[in-house]
Amino acid sequence: MSLVTMREILKDARMGKYAIGAFEFWSYDSARAVVSQAQALRVPVILQVGTWEIDYMDGYDNVRYFAEAVSERYNTSVALHLDHATTLTACAEALDAGFTSIMMDASAYDYKTNVRLTNEARKLAEKYDASVEAEIGTLGGSEGGLHHETDDQTKPEDARRFVEDTGIDCLAVAIGTAHGFYTKPPVINIERLKEIAAVVDIPLVMHGGSGTPEDKVAEAIENGIAKVNICTEFIAGYGKGYRAQDAEGFKYNVNSLFRAGSDAGAAVARHKMELFLSRRK
Ligand SMILES: [Zn+2]
Repeated sequence: MSLVTMREILKDARMGKYAIGAFEFWSYDSARAVVSQAQALRVPVILQVGTWEIDYMDGYDNVRYFAEAVSERYNTSVALHLDHATTLTACAEALDAGFTSIMMDASAYDYKTNVRLTNEARKLAEKYDASVEAEIGTLGGSEGGLHHETDDQTKPEDARRFVEDTGIDCLAVAIGTAHGFYTKPPVINIERLKEIAAVVDIPLVMHGGSGTPEDKVAEAIENGIAKVNICTEFIAGYGKGYRAQDAEGFKYNVNSLFRAGSDAGAAVARHKMELFLSRRK
């Protein structure tokens, strides 16, 4: 199956009270760990990359190549998304390579600049019929080389204006989640999310899904979150699989080490996808 847009994949999610998982990947192997589980559960899925993963795969073309190959092999709807692009050049390169979705993250700038850069990205994406995600408010933690110390949650009125001013397909909101694993338990602001969802009708995105308490994730999905990003926890699954296998004795064949990592990563992805579907209407 060829790659599809994120718009297509997310269109029924908010109304249906479920979310689509967006998993960071860095290889054919990690893409397969995600998409094989999506196939088993008969749900579409989003494969996404940031700067580190693009570098690791030697550029945008290879990223698209692996995502497309896995989507075809597992006959599953897959959107290929560029996560947290901070420049229009990065957006253009991804779109040229065949990505079906981009996130222009100009949330570190003032409102006017964020709107201007997001609109530029949307105009670029329109030429390819690709989807656009953008962000307003500031998430904590770090991801893909980005780091934020502040925790400035999304204001409902800003979100409403921003969506109106940009015409984006989905909106990342800051409601208390952070990138990476948490150093202290997060407080997820469901009330704030409800206020945002009351004035914004496009799919909302939760970044920093890793390690967020699962009941809070499910509650957020019931209240407007339609895409949940998982990066750290998926990678940690791989690491755990490798370490467990290594402790048992590495036997110098592919199945002995790499299969164990991949299976453990796949188990994390499956568990998350099941959680995202758990309150489906
Ligand atoms: Zn993020």
